[in-house]
Amino acid sequence: MVLPARYHPGMSHPLDDAVRDLIASTDPDAAAILDRERERQEHTIELIASENHASPAVMHAAGTCFTNKYAEGYPGRRYYGGCAHMDEIETLARERAKKLFNCEYANVQPHSGAQANMAVFMALLEHGDTFASLLLQDGGHLSHGMKLNFSGTYFNPVHYPLHYNEDHPRHEQIDYDAVEKVCMEHKPKLLLCGYSAYSRQIDFAKFREIADKCGALLMADIAHIAGLVAAGEHPSPFPHCHVVTTTTHKSLRGPRGGLIMTNDEEIFKKTNRTLFPGTQGGPLMHIVFAKAVAFGEALKPEFKTYQKQVVRNADALATALTEHGYRICSGATENHVMLVDLTARNPELTGRDAETWLEAAGIICNKNGIPNDERKPMITSGIRLGSPATTTRGFGTEEMKTVASFIDRVLDAGLKGEAAREAETQAVRAEVKALCESFPMPGATPAGV
Ligand code: PLP
Repeated sequence: MVLPARYHPGMSHPLDDAVRDLIASTDPDAAAILDRERERQEHTIELIASENHASPAVMHAAGTCFTNKYAEGYPGRRYYGGCAHMDEIETLARERAKKLFNCEYANVQPHSGAQANMAVFMALLEHGDTFASLLLQDGGHLSHGMKLNFSGTYFNPVHYPLHYNEDHPRHEQIDYDAVEKVCMEHKPKLLLCGYSAYSRQIDFAKFREIADKCGALLMADIAHIAGLVAAGEHPSPFPHCHVVTTTTHKSLRGPRGGLIMTNDEEIFKKTNRTLFPGTQGGPLMHIVFAKAVAFGEALKPEFKTYQKQVVRNADALATALTEHGYRICSGATENHVMLVDLTARNPELTGRDAETWLEAAGIICNKNGIPNDERKPMITSGIRLGSPATTTRGFGTEEMKTVASFIDRVLDAGLKGEAAREAETQAVRAEVKALCESFPMPGATPAGV
């Protein structure tokens, strides 16, 4: 089978092309799928708040010979021979993580954010113990107590609310008085903050006060805001939190993976044990290698500039959507993410339709429930949007305003019926493609070079 020539030279790093050609020479079927996914990523606007475009160095670090090695255990205490360089890279990744987040201890082995959370829960809670968190529907995560998840099955979650009253000046923001009330009533062993769809800054100091009052340990899951925290664009969970987990692949722009951090030696030892051998086997050393490279990138001054722009771009998108008649939950964003209430623009709009219609036009996002959403999770009244990926491509606030107008054109046409939607989708799709071609993937060389 002969694969077609690469479809658009210059949209991505030359190494991506070389890797694709290497794979095509031995496995055309897999290479053809890779081609389609590259095409998709290169020519669509990525607004999923938990996604990003990792640099070529980070992506290809995940494809090195470190994938060949078993390294069960931790640096200096492995269950396999041949681990000298595993120790070196894991130590480098740990040191960089500690510097980035200004903490004493880091475990870089979690395969994912959920694995990191599981290890912490198993370390700090007994089966059936109570912990307090935000509900999934209000912006929490599955691993924060959803009933089908380990966190809701093996432990007893109680949830603290947002301000639900529309007249409240902090409408849809965390109700810290209610957090205290819930915690004083249920005396959780662990109080969890950090969210998947919350657009306001988190007051870690306030959470610590409450945790101290009710006798809980304080955990922050900064999976979404980690890049902002590392760059000083969001207050740090340290020194307030006893333990901090994160993913490495969202705003932090590393490879897919997790990370556990603490300033407490006992918690470090306990979570090390519950991660390995408690819940994981051999670490993914190619991913640990890529984490080290990504943390190195995040320590550079350019990363601070990038994160500043992430925040500015989110604000620009939220402001422009508000001007088009949409409602941003809680009124605004202070970070990289926003929940858009579509029903403010038109009560007929649903998250499910918006996600489908926008994807047809080359704009990728996810439907998302809004606080007190009357619609089911597979339909929803909202979409969640974020700025990390578009900012990586080089979009500025002007481009974000253009993106807002694309969104409105598609959704407005969608409400007018299939023919109108089809025509507008085609028009916006062409403009999206042209915009993407002006902002190629990180590390790309311009066409023809
Ligand atoms: N924690 C939060 C706050 C998240 O938003 C997510 C992912 O969306 C996770 C944990 C889980 O991360 P992973 O998908 O890597 O398991």
